[in-house]
Amino acid sequence: MNDVTINEIQRFSFDNTNVRGEHVVLNSAYQEIIKRKNYPLGIEVLLGEFVAAIALLRDIIKIDGVLSIQAKGNGFLSALMTECDEQQNLRGIAQWDEEQVVPDTISLKEVLAGGYLVITIAPRNGQRYQGIVELVGDSLAECLEQYFYQSEQLPSRVWLAANGAQCGGLFLQRLPAEQAQSGDEDAWERFTHLAATVKDEELLGLDTETLLHRLYHEEEVRLYEPKTLQFGCSCSRQRTLDAVISMGADEVRQLLIEQGSIQADCQFCAEQYVFTETDLVGQLGDQAQTH
Ligand SMILES: [Zn+2]
Repeated sequence: MNDVTINEIQRFSFDNTNVRGEHVVLNSAYQEIIKRKNYPLGIEVLLGEFVAAIALLRDIIKIDGVLSIQAKGNGFLSALMTECDEQQNLRGIAQWDEEQVVPDTISLKEVLAGGYLVITIAPRNGQRYQGIVELVGDSLAECLEQYFYQSEQLPSRVWLAANGAQCGGLFLQRLPAEQAQSGDEDAWERFTHLAATVKDEELLGLDTETLLHRLYHEEEVRLYEPKTLQFGCSCSRQRTLDAVISMGADEVRQLLIEQGSIQADCQFCAEQYVFTETDLVGQLGDQAQTH
């Protein structure tokens, strides 16, 4: 499966139970994100887990808008964020202390040193909602399980993996009892127990049908239509211009005097935006004028 482009998320449920799930595997969409910077492997892996996580979240919390996960902390990783919109456009970025030697396997708790996660749900119309997730466990998967429990009061389990070429995740959730089609009391225990045996290679290397067959060949699994995800950046010339203008007329004028024009590069996709005095005077008025 390594040579084939597979950027898909697929929902599934188990017949006659109240358990549902999602499986996501990304390769080229993930590679597009990590090739933007010279990330050490440890950060590529962590960023990959975040990308798989936002793809899962996006399919679970269905809103018309943008979902993001941000990690904030005081460790050598100063910032990490991933985003996904309703068109399944993914983007992500990490900033770290480049002086540090980064191990291939890093602990979220350690790199964020007293930090936390912010999950933002920003509908196109309506109020944005932010949830803070403390770093209860050592992994992003444990933090997400905590988030689902806090926000939906639903028991959920998450498995995430990434290796610098692919990233993926598996999600299981037990819906409220009244949604159960029958009283299979042991279903949740049985399904999570089996999912816990999943190896990273299986999570990343198998398509959903094969993975579920391997884990649950004795169960009746219902698969839904897969959805495709891709790398996509929401930056635009106007949004970048707005950001430049928000620096204020004095700053803008100073930069124009020093540099002749102002160049702002998108950190997510490396798109370069150049603004001349004419562009800026139009927005800021005479105050931005250099003469
Ligand atoms: Zn961009």
